[in-house]
Amino acid sequence: MTQTVLVTGGAGYIGAHACKVLKAAGFTPVTFDNLNTGWQDAVKYGPFFKGDLMNRADVDAAFAQYQPVAVLHFAALSLVGESMTDPGKYWRVNVMGALNLIEGALAAGCKNFVFSSTCATYGDQDGVLLDEDSVQRPINSYGASKRAIEDMLANFGASHGLNHVIFRYFNVAGCDPEGEIGEQHVPETHLIPLMLDAVAGKRPALTVFGSDYPTRDGTCIRDYVHVMDLVAAHVLGLRWLLDGRGNRVFNLGTGTGFSVREVIDHSRAVTNRDVPIVEGARRAGDAVALVSGSARAMQELGWEPTRSNLRDMIGDAWTWAQGKGYSA
Ligand code: UDP
Repeated sequence: MTQTVLVTGGAGYIGAHACKVLKAAGFTPVTFDNLNTGWQDAVKYGPFFKGDLMNRADVDAAFAQYQPVAVLHFAALSLVGESMTDPGKYWRVNVMGALNLIEGALAAGCKNFVFSSTCATYGDQDGVLLDEDSVQRPINSYGASKRAIEDMLANFGASHGLNHVIFRYFNVAGCDPEGEIGEQHVPETHLIPLMLDAVAGKRPALTVFGSDYPTRDGTCIRDYVHVMDLVAAHVLGLRWLLDGRGNRVFNLGTGTGFSVREVIDHSRAVTNRDVPIVEGARRAGDAVALVSGSARAMQELGWEPTRSNLRDMIGDAWTWAQGKGYSA
């Protein structure tokens, strides 16, 4: 019999990719999603439970129906810019949602929890490589809400034996190379899909948010990781918990940073087309550089990213950008 796992946000970009690899690894992924930002069309690899984490009764009903051995918690609000203008929304939805989920899991006897955290919990630290022991000083409400949930997991780990693996994502990009699922946000705010929409003529131009940062070309530096590599780490993290290996934090990045301009230059090589750009102002809440010290996931989990190069990330996203996308 396969083991069932509850995947919150399974109809979203990363959650749907996680469901695909979980199914391939022999698990039954149950998607729990309110479809506020997710897509029903993206739920292809296991059952769907429409529910809202803000409603504890929905959470309890999902645990009662499926009795999962573990939770993979992807569902969250994740827009840095929005979190600066509406912090209350981030504290309410992300933090309260996680609390309901943790308490619901414990009430149902489910003690294995994999959490999607973020490099935004580190804040801005002068371009140093950020490893798991780096101090966490978030500079936006999104990062602050995720750090609060990390603290919550530590507290429930100590008080109730909640086993947890925390993944701090750097910049996730690309999509399933088989083209079954992809990245589709409304509104879209992320660099690579916006850039490719501009290349495809679906938008007039990509706005470069700030060209006066203290970096090699004046634009922000990020560490991009392919979504298929990222979700592969989650299967390893899940097995880590099921094997009883204890609570651990892992960064998921490659250790190499690219500037916004370097991403744009790679896009020309992949698509053979120019990227129409407009130079814009800095975006509130953006760190100058976020690059991962990535040794721990590789050494301890045996994580081996294979597609986290700009050619594959942009190439896979370009294939998806040229298709029809989700409609529901
Ligand atoms: N960015 C940009 N123009 C856009 C979207 C993003 O210049 O239209 C920049 C943004 O300022 C950041 C980088 O691209 O430096 C990655 O941003 P994204 O929103 O993709 O991810 P984040 O780093 O916020 O998680």
